[in-house]
Amino acid sequence: MGIIRFLVIAGLIWFAWRTMNNWLKERNRSLEKDGKPPLQADEFSDILEEDPVCGKLVPRSQAVRLDVDGRVLYFCSKECCQIFRKEKGEKS
Ligand SMILES: [Zn+2]
Repeated sequence: MGIIRFLVIAGLIWFAWRTMNNWLKERNRSLEKDGKPPLQADEFSDILEEDPVCGKLVPRSQAVRLDVDGRVLYFCSKECCQIFRKEKGEKS
């Protein structure tokens, strides 16, 4: 009888552990949805570009793109992009 009891308890513990694991995974998934954009595999292999305005490094997939004389520049935000366009407009 002792062994059966032990097996039942072990089974319950395993079931509880599995349920909790699934719940944690589910929770992580929903957190990714609500908060920041989910980390994608290509984000890690993404090329970092330097923002010419503030000098921040931004992954291409998240950067604000701007074509300048056939060259593509990448900015961390629309604000930086606007600052750059403004400065360029004043120079020329
Ligand atoms: Zn910037």
